[in-house]
Amino acid sequence: MSSVQFDTVIVGAGSAGCALANRLSADPAHRVCLIEAGPEDRSPLIHIPAGMLGTIPRRGLNWAFETEPQPGLGGRRGYQPRGRALGGSSSINAMIYMRGHRSDYDDWAALGNPGWAYEDVLPLFRRSEDQQRGADVFHGSGGELSVSDLPSPHAASQAFVESAVRAGLSRNPDFNAAGQDGAGLYQVTQRRGRRCSAAVAFLRPALGRPNLTVLTCRHATRIVFANGRAAGVEVEGRGGTARIGAAREVILSAGAFGSPQLLLLSGIGPREELARHGIALRHELPGVGANLADHIDLALVYRSEDASLMGITARTAWRALWGYSEWRDRGTGLLTTNFAEAGAFLRTREGLARPDVQLHFLVGLVDDHARRLHYGYGVSCHVAVLRPKSRGRVGLRSANPREAPLIDPNFLVDPEDLATLVAGVKRARGIMDGAPLAPHRCEELFTEGEGDEALIAQIRRRADTIYHPLGTCRMGTDPMAVVDAALRVHGIERLSVVDASVMPAPIGGNTNAPTIMIAEKAAHDRA
Ligand SMILES: Cc1cc2nc3c(=O)[nH]c(=O)nc-3n(C[C@H](O)[C@H](O)[C@H](O)COP(=O)(O)OP(=O)(O)OC[C@H]3O[C@@H](n4cnc5c(N)ncnc54)[C@H](O)[C@@H]3O)c2cc1C
Repeated sequence: MSSVQFDTVIVGAGSAGCALANRLSADPAHRVCLIEAGPEDRSPLIHIPAGMLGTIPRRGLNWAFETEPQPGLGGRRGYQPRGRALGGSSSINAMIYMRGHRSDYDDWAALGNPGWAYEDVLPLFRRSEDQQRGADVFHGSGGELSVSDLPSPHAASQAFVESAVRAGLSRNPDFNAAGQDGAGLYQVTQRRGRRCSAAVAFLRPALGRPNLTVLTCRHATRIVFANGRAAGVEVEGRGGTARIGAAREVILSAGAFGSPQLLLLSGIGPREELARHGIALRHELPGVGANLADHIDLALVYRSEDASLMGITARTAWRALWGYSEWRDRGTGLLTTNFAEAGAFLRTREGLARPDVQLHFLVGLVDDHARRLHYGYGVSCHVAVLRPKSRGRVGLRSANPREAPLIDPNFLVDPEDLATLVAGVKRARGIMDGAPLAPHRCEELFTEGEGDEALIAQIRRRADTIYHPLGTCRMGTDPMAVVDAALRVHGIERLSVVDASVMPAPIGGNTNAPTIMIAEKAAHDRA
């Protein structure tokens, strides 16, 4: 078996891994190796924003995981797309730039994680950011991650915002500033109409550094230990099995499913789970894989006769073909859409201190993660529960590192999540039925008849993730915590987790920017 030695080895070149690799390798004396199971990010489906319609529904640049059957979803298996290329999920995501509610971070700090309150993390968000509108107290400019207004938002997205305002929501031009409530167009991680993934933002500028090595198509299969400390990882890929040594630290950034899976495969986790798969216990940590939280979501789908929308039609195919040169030369037009162009944050009940539901308005008819195609035009409105109480887990299906992890989000096991979703759907329908949207939508595709019971039945038939799994190696100090506030694994020296798994509680918003901030903080704490 071949063997090479670095100071820090990072597993997973996703949102966190790319940001971390950039920051750590800024010190020329620090030898950093970044390992990614997927390929380089050469596919145009990654860089043309509308290309996500080609990556999200299928395997390839996507692990396309499935969950265990979910009792809360009528026994269906949920779908869990995850990026599998340089950039990880930031190479296939919907590019919405969202930090969550400021109180989310104050909650993290209050849960026993000093240094993670909003005032602590705001400078880290600003540091990474290159805000098209310029810098202010909330935003940074000159950072690696381009955050811009959509180059060519569709009129239907503006109409959604108008309709939400008529329904009583405030107009919010910046969800990442003083207040989150209200409706508006989303800002996106794009640069001149191209996707600004974590790989584009953070990895590309660092690739010329002699102290940074990036290995693609290498699947990490377990952590290697020496004298009880993490000392490297074993990888499989082109050229067989190799050992990549880490003199200083091994950092897992393999995502909310990949990081706990690697800990379990390496003998770190709940005793019974390891015994079930015949894996020798190295260190008992009952919280590994526990505390899985995800945003449960129902998509309301409408047909439309507005042929300027995206649709499965010959006309759209033709316009996309024509739109290619506009995208290439000017970075504008149809192909720059992230589909989820507008949205809203709202409170479903009196007395809530912050929004509990997020809406995503899509300029296309998107059903079952675009795995089920419908001929014609349409619009959709996703309704997501922001701080679900249900918790699931990630485990192993077997001791084979090439097998997908066991994913059980336990969606809707807490009745409060269902009640919030029901209330959110009613509010969303009120907005979608508004006059400003009338030119852009016809009938709703999946209706259910009168009453809450019928709506609940529809939720069980059709709801699923809106792609924000987190919390499976959560930080904290209690016996179920996996990492401390510096993101070091409890009880094992020289081993850390830096990605969405460390979030101790759900974020009230999308999770890419928060994950990049987590990497920014980990790097800052290690400097
Ligand atoms: C379809 C979709 C749409 C989304 N839309 C948005 C959005 O609009 N806005 C937003 O803020 N968030 C969005 N998200 C969520 C956001 O992208 C993720 O929360 C974020 O990218 C997670 O970052 P991460 O570093 O934790 O994991 P990832 O970015 O998933 O990175 C993990 C990396 O590790 C690699 N890996 C895993 N296992 C191994 C192994 N054993 N060996 C080597 N490499 C391994 C993976 O291939 C991957 O590259 C979306 C996600 C998806 C999937």
